[in-house]
Amino acid sequence: MGWLGLDDTDHLGGGCTTWTMHVVLSNLPRGVRPLNDPCLVRLYPMAKARTRGNAALAAELHVDIPREEWFAWLQQMWKEHVAPLAGRRTESSHATRKQVASDPGMVWFENKPSSRFYSLAVRQETSLAEAPKPDWEAGGLGKIGAIAAVSWPNEVSTWEGIAWRGELDGPRTLDENVLKHLDGDQRLVACRDPRQGRGLLAPRGTSPVLFGLRGTVRSAVKDGMAALMAGSGTEPNTGSSLFRTNQGSGDHLTAPTSATVEKVQVLRGGHVALTTSDGTWLAFAPSGPVRDLAAQLMPGDRVLGIGLVGEDEGRKGRHLEALKHLSGPVRQRRRPSCTACGRRMKSAGRDQGLRCPTCKHRDVDRWVGEEVMPTAWIQPPVDRRRHLAPDINTWASERPDWTEQGPAPS
Ligand SMILES: [Zn+2]
Repeated sequence: MGWLGLDDTDHLGGGCTTWTMHVVLSNLPRGVRPLNDPCLVRLYPMAKARTRGNAALAAELHVDIPREEWFAWLQQMWKEHVAPLAGRRTESSHATRKQVASDPGMVWFENKPSSRFYSLAVRQETSLAEAPKPDWEAGGLGKIGAIAAVSWPNEVSTWEGIAWRGELDGPRTLDENVLKHLDGDQRLVACRDPRQGRGLLAPRGTSPVLFGLRGTVRSAVKDGMAALMAGSGTEPNTGSSLFRTNQGSGDHLTAPTSATVEKVQVLRGGHVALTTSDGTWLAFAPSGPVRDLAAQLMPGDRVLGIGLVGEDEGRKGRHLEALKHLSGPVRQRRRPSCTACGRRMKSAGRDQGLRCPTCKHRDVDRWVGEEVMPTAWIQPPVDRRRHLAPDINTWASERPDWTEQGPAPS
């Protein structure tokens, strides 16, 4: 019994760690078999050495062969199927992100380590020095993700069914009728972009992945995957597997942060930068409604934000994954109407209160306007969220110990 971990065999131009794991698991020697579904574990989305998918893999195995024999097999598998994937690199068209060459890692633990390292690796940059020591290991920096995946406490949030293809280039063909049918299944997550009807299942670009079908119920994902592969309009596949995942868990997030807005700037590209009492908050254009809410804010507004803090040049600040408007100055601020004749009052001068321009009625100096109504949590559309992003309203309601209001404004 033990746990196998694998990470970082892919790069922007191709490859996928899920496929490499599938190859390894398909070639297990006699006397070794998988227990349970393998795990696909997403880690800290802002990791500097992140590759294409940022998904690490783990599998629990029953090993009924001598230790030396098993370690020799792992070594051979590493040498033949994993090590050759090192050093691949494709420059990203994304100017601000430097691509790091793939540096695979493979690990074996005879006992599942505690979840401490996973909790660290899903929330922040970490290093091998902080990781528990595997019983067998090979490779480089990929060992970080591999160890983190093995350390995942296996508290499943969602499942993902993945099928792979032989062709690496060219458009993927999936059966339209089956896709339509799957669209209506509430147990499946994000099959399609609800705004454009575009299939979300199929990745773009070069990847051995034919499709990834995500859902909250194992049987729904399993059946959906089978239906899609059997669809007459779906291209041939080279294999498939069902993974337990931490996708949608929100494990990368910490409690919401409350802040007061000091300045609102719309940047080139439509992104919005908020200067707040908590530093800069960024709402990127693709975040849709989050960006729109941010653009409507004004100095003095009280807000709650959720998101990781980025350090990349030009993108420094809290990258908002959810935003909530709590309170703030009234909107469309104006003077009240005269209580005697109904005309709009005007200031009678400094410290002189208000005066009606028609009947000269006097009133105390004040403004009226639209009160800010607190919003629910606003999130990007499903297809623009991080893999780890949960439904924030549900997620926050499950954490009543987190104060929603934050500290009182000073
Ligand atoms: Zn009047």
